[in-house]
Amino acid sequence: MAAHRLQPGQKLVIASHNRGKIPEFQRLLQPLGLELSCAADYGIPEPEETGTTFTENALIKARAVAAACGLPALADDSGLAVTALNGDPGVYSARWAGPERDFNLAMQKIETLLADKSDRSAQFVTVLALCWPDGTTQTYDGAVGGTLIWPPRGPNGFGYDPVFMPEGYTQTFGEISAEQKNKLSHRARACAAMIAEMQTPATRAES
Ligand code: IMP
Repeated sequence: MAAHRLQPGQKLVIASHNRGKIPEFQRLLQPLGLELSCAADYGIPEPEETGTTFTENALIKARAVAAACGLPALADDSGLAVTALNGDPGVYSARWAGPERDFNLAMQKIETLLADKSDRSAQFVTVLALCWPDGTTQTYDGAVGGTLIWPPRGPNGFGYDPVFMPEGYTQTFGEISAEQKNKLSHRARACAAMIAEMQTPATRAES
């Protein structure tokens, strides 16, 4: 099915129960002038993320919300992919922090696994899935490459930020400002890819 375009003023439901994501998407998608709401506002239960890829998980979340609300829905799925660990923790990035969501533990686990490896490269990855009530799905990827450092540095950000030094920088995501991170992050890049498609006029075949 051809890609659909979101129009200014259109309602878009963010398929997440994390209300903190709304202001972030509000800012990142601001050029599209959308009316954003949150899946939690509609009382839709969160589906289990049973996929083995970022794309599968993002689609699971967005499809469930688009079907339940009858509105276009957007979900993101993100994580850290470490080259020498064959892309782990990947879709399991949150789960590596355990039930207590202890990211010191998760960062230490990666460091232990990297002990005898020379390749310390990694990337943060985001896949955005936009699903429409008619079943059309569109996905957009964003990634930022960097190096894992040890020990962790910096009080900013969350998750694996204190061990991730983006390419071309001497500070970690835990040390740079939120404003700087938001300019180069995987989420910002995936949103930029989506905005670019929305701002490209539909071809005759699509419309
Ligand atoms: P989510 O799919 O956005 O909920 O991200 C899943 C997990 O990936 C988070 O719990 C973090 O562990 C990790 N992660 C995603 N994005 C970032 C980031 O920008 N910094 C640090 N960790 C991240």
